[in-house]
Amino acid sequence: MSKTKNSLLFALFLLVLCVPAAAGNLRVAVLSVGQGLSVVTESPDGRVMVFDCGSENPRFDSANTNRTVRYLRFRGVRKLDAVVLSHADSDHSSGMGVLLKNYKAKTFITGKAVLADKRFAAVERALKKQKTPIRCPASGESFSLGRQVKVRVVSPGASGKGNTGSLALLVKYGSESFLLTSDMGKKEEAAMCRRFGSGLAASVLLVPHHGSSGSCSQALLRAARPRAAAISCGRRNKYGHPSFGVLKRLSDNKIRVLMTARDGDIVFVSDGKRTGFVKKRKKALFSDIWSK
Ligand SMILES: [Zn+2]
Repeated sequence: MSKTKNSLLFALFLLVLCVPAAAGNLRVAVLSVGQGLSVVTESPDGRVMVFDCGSENPRFDSANTNRTVRYLRFRGVRKLDAVVLSHADSDHSSGMGVLLKNYKAKTFITGKAVLADKRFAAVERALKKQKTPIRCPASGESFSLGRQVKVRVVSPGASGKGNTGSLALLVKYGSESFLLTSDMGKKEEAAMCRRFGSGLAASVLLVPHHGSSGSCSQALLRAARPRAAAISCGRRNKYGHPSFGVLKRLSDNKIRVLMTARDGDIVFVSDGKRTGFVKKRKKALFSDIWSK
């Protein structure tokens, strides 16, 4: 691609993302971080939550390369109200060091198993340095992000190491909800559906475990009934994510699929009644697809 074309596209991207959100909008950005996950949620009253920060190579990662930090700077964010680490795997946690070097977090939220994981030690030191409290909420517990946004922990409460203990959150604003899963396994996904059932109803589903085979069951789609699904995965990743079975299930359920590997950054914008999205290069705010 030519340099001119590249800079034109970048300018277009800036233009699309610079369109100021009308007051009263929630923004949920599923960032294009390769084979990993990072989601930035901004409440209508300017509270910010970062859900995971991967997948950088910590040896080369810096504020100038870390996608999450760059996005936060771009959005003019000064401090973070909540930083959530779903689990300790590096595709979700490797950017945390740089994130916490550049931003103070008011609260840090994670699962109990993460605290005992030696990969968490450096993050724990950074949190201690900035005197940020660590909370491990129980399944079903809620917290507020600003005045109008409620966040509920909907992972089933498994405390296993790695994927099995992954946190999942339901972000609710008005009649719109976002179900942010991370890498929960098949068993935990089934347990979440049994425990919360239709309480998982969401306009947008962040597909579990990068769309791996066995994830995103029909039971989950029945419970969440999303209009759109976002999959965070790297281009031509070695795991073959997302799996054909998951894509077919989403298509059979007539769910619009967005994928970071193909679409770049995906920013959902909601006024609490409707939800639209902007992609890195395309603008489709409040299109007909989204009307109920
Ligand atoms: Zn992962």
